[in-house]
Amino acid sequence: MSVTASLVQRLHRINRQKTDLNGQLARGPRLVSAATRKLQAAVQHVSDTRSELTKLKVAADSKQLQMREREEKIHKWRGNLNSAKENREYQALKDQIAADEQANLVLSDEILEILESIDATTDELASAEEQVKLLESELAEVQSQVAERKVVLESDLARINSELAEAEQGLSGEFKREYSRLVEAKGEDAMAELEGNCCGGCYQSLTPQKLDQLLQGQPIICPSCGRLIYQDHER
Ligand SMILES: [Zn+2]
Repeated sequence: MSVTASLVQRLHRINRQKTDLNGQLARGPRLVSAATRKLQAAVQHVSDTRSELTKLKVAADSKQLQMREREEKIHKWRGNLNSAKENREYQALKDQIAADEQANLVLSDEILEILESIDATTDELASAEEQVKLLESELAEVQSQVAERKVVLESDLARINSELAEAEQGLSGEFKREYSRLVEAKGEDAMAELEGNCCGGCYQSLTPQKLDQLLQGQPIICPSCGRLIYQDHER
């Protein structure tokens, strides 16, 4: 291999930058979809709360109607009390009136409870609607930040790609094929720096023969993980 360690080191650095930029670019859409999901959940909550409120109002109306009808009935029966001819008939009416009055007492408690729920649910709906507005503006903010960042990242990436293409021109022959195959498969993990006597990728010790090659400035392939190993020539 006639490629210098410093070129491999440089290729490693550029590939790392490329991976980092691609990672940042991929994060943008994830941020947008996270904010979108939060908004969708809040919109769903508004809709659920609204239908809950409708249900409560329908229930309150129907119970109030039932109470009025029963009151009218009681009123009518009271009128009949005076014209009751027999004692038994009189007592039966009195019993019916008492039973319906009792039923209406229970009903009025139920209505009160529903009216309290309506108040609480109305408050909840208002705050759920506030939350939607808040999340809408958060989403818009995230979208514009991501769009701005994307422009910067894409221009950085274009610069890094041309830097990479330029550096890769220093490669040729078998080594170039090997490098391309490795980078294709592993990205920045195609290369690792020597750390002590070990591969900086998998931390396996290298044989004295391999270390010797590195000392001479030749990059080698790690026998255990297959990364291209180079020695930092500045060290
Ligand atoms: Zn290794």
